[in-house]
Amino acid sequence: MQIRVGQGFDVHRWVAGRPLCLGGVQIPHEQGLLGHSDADVLLHAIMDALLGGAGLGDIGHHFPDTDPRYRGIDSRELLAMVHESLRVRQWAVGNLDATVICQRPKLAPHMSAMVQEIARILQISPEQVNIKATTTEGLGFTGRNEGVAAQAVVLLVKV
Ligand code: MG
Repeated sequence: MQIRVGQGFDVHRWVAGRPLCLGGVQIPHEQGLLGHSDADVLLHAIMDALLGGAGLGDIGHHFPDTDPRYRGIDSRELLAMVHESLRVRQWAVGNLDATVICQRPKLAPHMSAMVQEIARILQISPEQVNIKATTTEGLGFTGRNEGVAAQAVVLLVKV
């Protein structure tokens, strides 16, 4: 069995006046994340993990933030494109584990919806997707509530 591992990391800055999109879900919050796309930091980390595992570079290469086609784009569309790039190369997701690092808001009420949405886009079972959240105990840029970070690890299996 041919297997590969990939990891991804991303950060976006908090900003007023934008919706908060995380894991493909809109979460009610008083601020959102700044970015060229919808700034879904979790989906971006997951995409980089998928691309990394498949040896396909990173999302900056595939979806440059200088390209007006990706302005304000729903990151679920980008994730679907990444999934298709892997699918045609016979890579399937074995499992995916990710962590969102932020001080606020509390993400526990939204975890199930995020898992369901990510599994739907990647055409896998929700049991293959694990999303965690942690604070940094008030330390660093996430602790000061300046931004949100996310990291992801995926196992890819050649099918
Ligand atoms: Mg990003």
